[in-house]
Amino acid sequence: MKKVLITGAAGFLGSHLSDKFIKEGYHVIAMDNLITGDMRNIEHLMKLKQFEFINHDVTKHIHIEGELDYIMHFASPASPIDYLKIPIQTLKVSSLGTHNVLGLARVKKARVLVASTSEVYGDPNVHPQPEEYWGNVNPVGPRGCYDEAKRFMEAITMAYHNTHAVETRIVRIFNTYGPRMRLNDGRVLPAFIGQALRGEDLTMFGDGSQTRSFCYVSDLVDGIYKLLLSDYVLPVNIGNPSEITIKEFGEEILKLTGAKQKLISLALPKDDPKQRQPDITKAKALLGWEPKVNRAEGLKITYEYFKSLPHEELFKTEHRDLEKLNK
Ligand code: UDP
Repeated sequence: MKKVLITGAAGFLGSHLSDKFIKEGYHVIAMDNLITGDMRNIEHLMKLKQFEFINHDVTKHIHIEGELDYIMHFASPASPIDYLKIPIQTLKVSSLGTHNVLGLARVKKARVLVASTSEVYGDPNVHPQPEEYWGNVNPVGPRGCYDEAKRFMEAITMAYHNTHAVETRIVRIFNTYGPRMRLNDGRVLPAFIGQALRGEDLTMFGDGSQTRSFCYVSDLVDGIYKLLLSDYVLPVNIGNPSEITIKEFGEEILKLTGAKQKLISLALPKDDPKQRQPDITKAKALLGWEPKVNRAEGLKITYEYFKSLPHEELFKTEHRDLEKLNK
């Protein structure tokens, strides 16, 4: 049985990856320090003998007994509200944490895939974004702690590949959604659905003309799995090219939920990218991958998930400090 270590396994993407590797017949070592992760995301796997959980902060030395075939480095806060709250942890997990993960991969002779992001393109001047575009990032702005840490992650990953012949893969993940997103993490989809369910107006930042392209989580996980098993070392975009403005997206959520509220405009956060759409030519050619789930289907499943959460979850307010983003 092949063994995979997944860092950030109790998070949104980490937990879906854990499901995928279990389904594909792997032994999964799930690691998380639960700063932004939630044990409820992996509760259903805890009883399996091929699944083990280690509560550990990957910025500290990582010790794993025995052999390891693969490492998936998915530990990191990933929403603007999170990295405004914990910028130093955000920087450390993708720098020191990636260093530890690469060192571990080297001694175990394991293949490692690191989770990079469309944020490496910053507020892009090239549209859609191909992997060759180097980006337009403000290192000292509010997103700098995330964007620069992920750029460092890519650089150190290439250095370990070139210097120590570690087998590495780099995925650049674009906006992804689905069940197990945190309701109160400030991201636009849980924010809008939560607001629709609570009977509040939907908080659109700016005039809503900025665009994003949303990928359903099962498509993303399939693409990442294919990339891991491929022999391509340079970064690959995985995301859904179907682009939409945030205003149109808000209108879709109102329609889906049947909510009678309206969209209201709040100040646009500093350095909020104006447009984002993945160029997935590489993923199609190299991996034979493209997304299958359209937004209408994906949103329906995700809405059902949020509706099924305990009522009191919906009204937890401690993370909903949206105003902070606008300071
Ligand atoms: N956004 C919004 N209202 C919200 C939360 C986010 O209009 O309550 C906007 C945000 O300004 C951005 C887009 O939605 O333009 C996506 O934001 P998110 O935080 O989900 O992801 P990211 O900016 O990292 O792509």
